[in-house]
Amino acid sequence: MTETGSMGILQNSPGDWSRVLGRLRREVGETAFRSYFRLMTVERIAGGEGVIAVPTRFLRNWVATHYADRLLAAWRSENRAVSRISFIVDPRHERAERPQPPAIQQPQQMAPVPAPAETTSAGDIADDKGQLSAPLDPRLTFENFIVGKPNELAHAAARRVAEACSGRAHSVPFNPLFLYGGVGLGKTHLMHAIAWQVRTQAPARKVIYLSAEKFMYQFVRAVRFRSTMDFKDEFRSVDLLMIDDVQFISGKESTQEEFFHTFNALVDQNRQIVISADKSPSDLDIEERMRSRLGWGLVADIHPTTYELRLGILQAKAEHLGLQLPQKIMEFLAHKITSNVRELEGALNRIGAHTQLVGRDLTLETVQELLQDLLRANERRVTIDEIQRRVAEHFNVKMAEMTSSRRARIVARPRQVAMYLAKQLTQRSLPEIGRKFGGRDHTTVMHAVKKIEELTRSDRAFAEDVELLHRMLGN
Ligand code: ADP
Ligand code: MG
Repeated sequence: MTETGSMGILQNSPGDWSRVLGRLRREVGETAFRSYFRLMTVERIAGGEGVIAVPTRFLRNWVATHYADRLLAAWRSENRAVSRISFIVDPRHERAERPQPPAIQQPQQMAPVPAPAETTSAGDIADDKGQLSAPLDPRLTFENFIVGKPNELAHAAARRVAEACSGRAHSVPFNPLFLYGGVGLGKTHLMHAIAWQVRTQAPARKVIYLSAEKFMYQFVRAVRFRSTMDFKDEFRSVDLLMIDDVQFISGKESTQEEFFHTFNALVDQNRQIVISADKSPSDLDIEERMRSRLGWGLVADIHPTTYELRLGILQAKAEHLGLQLPQKIMEFLAHKITSNVRELEGALNRIGAHTQLVGRDLTLETVQELLQDLLRANERRVTIDEIQRRVAEHFNVKMAEMTSSRRARIVARPRQVAMYLAKQLTQRSLPEIGRKFGGRDHTTVMHAVKKIEELTRSDRAFAEDVELLHRMLGN
C-alpha cells in the first residue's frame, strides 16, 4: 500500500474515521485532540485489526498507553469490524524524525512515556537471572530518585540494603525492610533501585523482585502443577527477596501461609527481605503472627510529597525529558498536582508531547487547558467538611464543635488540627478556611497552623495522630 492514510479506510467503510475523530474530540477536548489525534491516519483494517499511523514514536507510545481503550471504543461504535487496534509510526514521518528529538534519549527504544511498573502482565515473569523475578524498569534507579523530607528515611534504608547486599560480606542490616506509603510515592521505584544496584555490583547474587500478586500467581500455579517443592527451593535460595504491594496477599490464606514460611526460612538463613505495602504492618489485614513478624525489621514510611519535593522531581524529570519549562509553570504544577508523583509525571509527559507537536511557547493557560482533568481531580480531593468530620471523629468531639465558639482545649485543639489540615490538604486561603470554621478570622487560622506545627515538633504521639489523619485524608 503506497498510498497510505485515508485510502485504507475508504475501501472499508467510507466516512467512518472522521466520525471516530469527532467522537474523540468531544471526549477528550480540543487541546488533547489537537495534540494527539489530529495527525493520525488509518493505515488499514485487516482481520479485525485497525492499524493507525501516527507521526512520531513518542506519539505512538503515548497514545498506545493512554488512549488506546478510548480510541478502540470510539472506533468500534462506528465500525463493528474493528476489534483490536495497533499503532505504527507513519514511515513518511519516521524518516523525518531522525535524528531523534531530544525527548527520546532513553537507553531502550521505548519513548519516555512511563508505562507504570505495574503494567507488566502476568506473562512476562522472566528475565536473565531467574524465571521468577519480574523485569526491572531501567528508569527506576537511585540516580533518578529525588530525595526529600517525605522519603528520606525510606531512601536511606533502601540504599543501606542495596549496599549491604552487594558488599562482599553480604550483611543484612534490617530484616525485613518494610516500605509503606500511599500510591505513587516511590515504593516500587526504591525496590527496583535496590535490585539494579545489586544486579550491577554483585551480579552473582540472586535477586527476586515480584509483586505480591505475582507471588500468589506463581504459588497457585506451582500447586496446580504439583511443583511446590521447586517453588520453595526457588524462593528459598535467593539472596534478596522483594515483594511489592503485600496488601494484596491479605485474605488469601494458603498464599499467606506459604509466604510466611518462605519469609521465616529466609530470615533464618540471614537473607535480605524487602516488603512494600500501602499500609503499615499493623494495619495490614493479615494473620497476627505474620503481622508482627513483618514489623521486626525497619519499618520506613514514605510520607505524602511536599511542595519542595514535587518541584525537585519536576525539575529533574523535565531535564531528563529535555523539556524546558518556565519556572512559573513548574511552580504551578508543583502547587496544583499534589496527589502523587505518578500524576506529576503524567502531567509532564503530556506537556512534553504537546510541545513536541506545537512548538515551545507554552503559556500557563495552555497548561491549564491541557491538564484540565488532572487539575480537577487534584482539586476534588478533600473538602474542609470532610476534614472536619474526620478530625471530629478521631478526637471524639461533636462535629458542631468545629464551628462553635467554645475555647476549652478539649475542643479547641481538634479544631486547630482541622484548620491545619485544611491548610495542608486543600487549596483554600486562610480567610476561606476561617469562614468554614464558624466565621473565624484568618489570623486565627494562621495561629492554629503555627500551634500545630509547634506541637508536632515537641510531642511525638500528637505528631503521629496528625500524621495519621493527614494520611487518611490525603488519599
Ligand atoms: P508506588 O510503588 O509507591 O505506588 P512508584 O514507585 O511506582 O510508586 O512511583 C510512581 C512514579 O513516580 C514512578 O514513575 C516513579 O519513578 C516516580 N517517583 C516516585 N517518587 C519519586 C522520587 N522521589 N523521585 C523520582 N521519581 C519518583
Ligand atoms: Mg508500586
